Amino acid sequence: MPKASKRRTRWSQASVEGRAPAFPGPIWGLTILGSLSLNLVTIALLASLYEGHGLLGCEAGSSGFVAEPEKAVLIAPPQSSAEEVEMVSAEEISVSSTAGSRPTSKDAIINLDHGDPTVYEAFWKRIGERGDIVFPGWQSMSYFSDPSNLCWFLEPEFAHQVRRLHSLVGNAVVDDGRFIIVGTGSTQLFQAALYALSPPDAAEPMNVVSAIPYYSSYPTVTDYLRSGLYRWAGDASTFEGDAYIEFVCSPNNPDGSIREAVLSSKNGKTIHDLAYYWPQYTPITGAADHDIMLFTVSKSTGHAGARLGWALVKDKDVAKRMTKFIELNTIGVSKDSQLRVAKILKVVSDGHELPGNKHRLFEYGRRLMSVRWRKLRAAVKASGIFSLPEFQSSLCRFTGEETETYPAFAWLKCEKEGVEDCESFLRNHKLLTRSGRHFGVEAKYVRISLLDRDETFDLFIQRLLSLR
Ligand code: PMP
Repeated sequence: MPKASKRRTRWSQASVEGRAPAFPGPIWGLTILGSLSLNLVTIALLASLYEGHGLLGCEAGSSGFVAEPEKAVLIAPPQSSAEEVEMVSAEEISVSSTAGSRPTSKDAIINLDHGDPTVYEAFWKRIGERGDIVFPGWQSMSYFSDPSNLCWFLEPEFAHQVRRLHSLVGNAVVDDGRFIIVGTGSTQLFQAALYALSPPDAAEPMNVVSAIPYYSSYPTVTDYLRSGLYRWAGDASTFEGDAYIEFVCSPNNPDGSIREAVLSSKNGKTIHDLAYYWPQYTPITGAADHDIMLFTVSKSTGHAGARLGWALVKDKDVAKRMTKFIELNTIGVSKDSQLRVAKILKVVSDGHELPGNKHRLFEYGRRLMSVRWRKLRAAVKASGIFSLPEFQSSLCRFTGEETETYPAFAWLKCEKEGVEDCESFLRNHKLLTRSGRHFGVEAKYVRISLLDRDETFDLFIQRLLSLR
């Protein structure tokens, strides 16, 4: 991984984001939880806000998703002044915003709170049926994928395509000694890693830390079940103690910075979250070689709805415990999703490896992100009231070129006098973002997703330009 010191973020004005009964299956005597829970995701039926439109809201964030995006009618709230908009709760606003759907009017509420990667939809539409996969009704019925594998629910073809893609991109070591653990998104995997790294018999829960600004799900997901095994302990930079688990996210969500662990101790453990270590976002400066590395299709290919991630794990016992967690939590991971994603990853690798193939995801993503960042920086400069982090370029070993960093989120700071709460300021302008407070820092910062569809992104830029 690149050294933090070489590519540190700086700021510039005007360049201005739970033992269990016996397993019903065969000889292994695996154990499961009595009931299968829908992990993490909370599903809540939200009452229709305006004129009887029933909408389904979900996810551990402040915003709702539209159940049938194509049919959804986006209705601007009846309020017009900033003060009146303020009186509408964030939850109410979000069900009528662009989350999961396209804006239908210039003054639509733009929801860029989540990093929903719909930006990749256009690419996959162009791929057409080459990205399709059809399942016969009898397929994938068993719980088991490969009983000979430590991770017995890992589909061999998915594992093969994961290794192939990392070898192609050169972003992570995937030698034969490395264990691949598949998860229902990397969100399940980081909980599996916390479970695996926490001593089962310690007097106190293990401290979980990450340097600010940290990914907003780390504290909430760590603490939501009030585990006796681990607990959130805040900012790694100010943590004092010897036993801890440090999350290292690089490139970092929310601010795009390239990071290394800030703590070092023989009793300390690290989990490297490399969700964004892909060529569309950052130069690939070397094959990452950490103890536990987490990846997800949500941000690499844009298939967040497949809910699939994978961990590359060095230590066999840690890999076994992570596998146990997933067995207890969801008795494995959807085979359908694994097979679908295997196909998706194959298409991506073929696109870059086969001569004459024009559909190269990383090239497409990189060009698109570079255009978006150019527009964003121009709008921020024109506004005069915001600032953005600056990044140094580096040689990307994947492209062979000196390339810039184009993070998936804009980490925007509000420089306007008198504005301490940037999220509220933007909400008053019908722009939904995530406050710095969720990332452990001041409310002057917000995280804004840059991974939405073109229409929403362009409307966001227009909205930014209209702010003074
Ligand atoms: N880690 C980071 C840094 C992320 O940004 C995200 C998605 N926002 C995740 C993990 C979770 O990814 P998944 O969709 O695979 O659960």
